[in-house]
Amino acid sequence: MPLEKGLVHVYTGNGKGKTSAALGLCMRALGRGLRCCFIQFIKGVVAGEMITASKLSNFCFIQTGRPGYDFKVIEEDYWRAEEGMKIAEEKIKEFDVLVLDEINVAIHLKLIPVERVVKLIKGKPEHVELILTGRYARREIVELADYVTELKLIKHPYYKGINGRKGIDF
Ligand code: ATP
Ligand code: MG
Repeated sequence: MPLEKGLVHVYTGNGKGKTSAALGLCMRALGRGLRCCFIQFIKGVVAGEMITASKLSNFCFIQTGRPGYDFKVIEEDYWRAEEGMKIAEEKIKEFDVLVLDEINVAIHLKLIPVERVVKLIKGKPEHVELILTGRYARREIVELADYVTELKLIKHPYYKGINGRKGIDF
């Protein structure tokens, strides 16, 4: 049974936990029979959650980023983001929960105009729960959201030289 009224979430800020929070929400939703679609922008490396997703029914995980993404924008990143938005515009009609992971970063990098995402939020089907993640959430998006959470960086092991760990950070 889909939700009667879906709401909009934003997870932003510099601390760890944005993608993890969105995935946690999907775990809860799947348990209640909601169909979830998780579209990951920007990133293109295999993450543990993709492996898990492939084993679950009603959980569609799509990555649209480039494998070697290094925070420098190249031509390819534009069409990949465009592709991601096209998929989002279709999947929003087919699922109960839609996550647009790292979409805030894609907007920040000007890969996607903020107006296009605003239009998607405003035009979402009534029952769809929509989750947008990533640092640098734009004011226009924050204003439209019902839940807005900023993950604040207090400590991160990266700053003592510990890189992302398989199974924990990706
Ligand atoms: P996670 O996927 O672990 O929930 P996130 O979505 O909040 O993290 P991103 O901005 O997507 O974080 O960052 C991607 C990777 O960088 C993750 O592996 C995360 O652990 C790590 N990370 C998160 N915050 C920081 C930070 N402040 N400095 C350095 N690395 C970070
Ligand atoms: Mg993330």
